[in-house]
Amino acid sequence: MSATATTHPLDKLSTFEAVNHHLKAAARRLELSDKEVHLITRPYRELKVELPVHLDNGEWAIFPAYRVQHNNVRGPFKGGLRYHPSVTEDEVRALATLMTWKTSVVNIPFGGAKGGVACDPKKMSEDELERLTRVLVRRLDVIVGPTVDIPAPDVNTNPQTMAWFVDEWAQVASYHPGVVTGKPLEIGGSKGRNEATGLGVLVTGLDAMKRLGMKVEGSTVVIQGFGNVGSFAAKFFHEAGMKVLAVSNSLGGVFNARGLDVPNLIRYSELNRDLGKFHGGEPISNADLLELRCDVLAPSALDNAINAKNAPKIDTKLIVEGANSPITAGGDQVLTERGIHIVPDILANAGGVTVSYFEWVQNLQNYYWSQDRVLQELTDILHTAFDEVATAAEQNQVSWREAAFIVAVRRVVAAQRLRWYGYGKKHH
Ligand code: GLU
Repeated sequence: MSATATTHPLDKLSTFEAVNHHLKAAARRLELSDKEVHLITRPYRELKVELPVHLDNGEWAIFPAYRVQHNNVRGPFKGGLRYHPSVTEDEVRALATLMTWKTSVVNIPFGGAKGGVACDPKKMSEDELERLTRVLVRRLDVIVGPTVDIPAPDVNTNPQTMAWFVDEWAQVASYHPGVVTGKPLEIGGSKGRNEATGLGVLVTGLDAMKRLGMKVEGSTVVIQGFGNVGSFAAKFFHEAGMKVLAVSNSLGGVFNARGLDVPNLIRYSELNRDLGKFHGGEPISNADLLELRCDVLAPSALDNAINAKNAPKIDTKLIVEGANSPITAGGDQVLTERGIHIVPDILANAGGVTVSYFEWVQNLQNYYWSQDRVLQELTDILHTAFDEVATAAEQNQVSWREAAFIVAVRRVVAAQRLRWYGYGKKHH
């Protein structure tokens, strides 16, 4: 039997098509016309460039790069920039689309965008990454800006990347810290931004556990990914009294049935990439980790980790999507049919962009908040968003994912109908 013969039909969708598969179910419930669905699915603008970058060995290399601006009816385009070998136009388009729904579901005044460079940052020096970032800023200069499109860190980019961005933007346009978020504190970053996404995974995860009547103390959690999202999620779940059974990064993971010593593991991971060699547990592959029996599973690495093939073997009650699009449309269908609850990415990992919003507000006002204020306002926003989604799910008898799309799409469509001349009357 060929591989395609066994592939679930929904898993044949591209990542962009898969996002729109979820969206279309919500659009049907909201009784949107085909034209309106077309308008909210297609990106507003897409930029595709090739970045010539001077390498340390004296050669040049060319890296394809994309910035997709999906929708800005509720505010400036907003979304991260990722550096990864698997970046494609379709993936960036899907991730840009998810940002529109993410900013809408948590009701912050932004639209959605995403950028990506197809490169392997693990094989590049710091100087090469700086040059790459600066060339990228020069290619993006006319379509970004503090009231136009505001990038932020994503996979393999970080506050240092954002610092280079601000500096290069100052050379080609003008100095304004609000041109990007996720900056270092010294140049206008916000307190709490680093841990925000991981904290959001905890807050929405605990809200979901409460709704499902699950006990927190002593329950078990497995986390795929140990980058910015996964490492903070592990720390917060551990501090909440849960047992972190396993974590992993792209090289593999570590498992301990009695629960990992998370503070020690975090210290270990600052110096060592190979988590499998951590003394407080045994090595485990990424594939096996996903199938461990646990109460909560938080896939917080890359997209499409769970698909229709491994979904039947997932042994958990609740999935909290720390990553963007970690479950394919086919995987989602299998898991939902099996009664596994999923807090969808656009809600579960919205903590990052929410604190990005606070950072941008602080930059515009030149007035900086305390860590307590940031974390309190973040928690309030996420509780409200979770309640709205859970209520919509109950009212419509749909999954939390479909409900999140209902809440998000309703807001974007309402803004679109108000802003576009004559459109409010003619869209039917
Ligand atoms: N890259 C993060 C995300 O996917 C954060 C985006 C932002 O802060 O603009 O949500």
